Amino acid sequence: MADFRIINGIKIYGFKSKDELMKFSSDQKKLLVAVNAEKIYNATEELKDVINLNIGYPDGVGAVWALHQKGMKQAVKIPGVELWLEFVNKFNKDKTFYFIGAREEIIQSTIRKLKIDFPGIKLAGFRNGYFQEDERAELIEDVVRKKPDFVFVAMGSPSQERLMTEMASKHPSVYLGLGGSFDIYSG
Ligand code: UDP
Repeated sequence: MADFRIINGIKIYGFKSKDELMKFSSDQKKLLVAVNAEKIYNATEELKDVINLNIGYPDGVGAVWALHQKGMKQAVKIPGVELWLEFVNKFNKDKTFYFIGAREEIIQSTIRKLKIDFPGIKLAGFRNGYFQEDERAELIEDVVRKKPDFVFVAMGSPSQERLMTEMASKHPSVYLGLGGSFDIYSG
């Protein structure tokens, strides 16, 4: 069973392996937030709340070191950058995915590449990360209606965390914030 420690007011889970994190988070249906030393010391109150209500995992050596100091000797560093692709790789045979973020041509080429890299991938939906308030409401409704197992949001912080928190309150699922990952993957 996954365990955690509180470090500087931030709850960080320790995992023996990436697989353990992936199993735990797909059971829990929450947001995953990568925590490094910078976030341990400089997270805003808003981000701390998001982490503490969800799953913060150690994405840097500083966070792993802090867990080791608190007795979690088996905790390993889990690099967040490609975690979304590992979820797709592990679960694409039977789970559904929703992708949000980046410019229109980037999300289009991300989807094209995903279909090539993971033939048969089940897309619940996708859209670019630039929208007005009314479109935001429609997007949230669409996510609630389609009930994806995984939602990946690449819009940068804190907007991606705000959007994911709102969606998660209406449709519990695994949510991952990705920053600029679609730009990297599609390029
Ligand atoms: N982005 C978006 N909507 C916005 C602003 C940014 O979808 O309103 C996208 C942007 O196109 C890029 C991604 O967010 O693909 C990450 O941007 P950035 O690198 O600034 O975020 P970081 O990874 O530094 O948090």
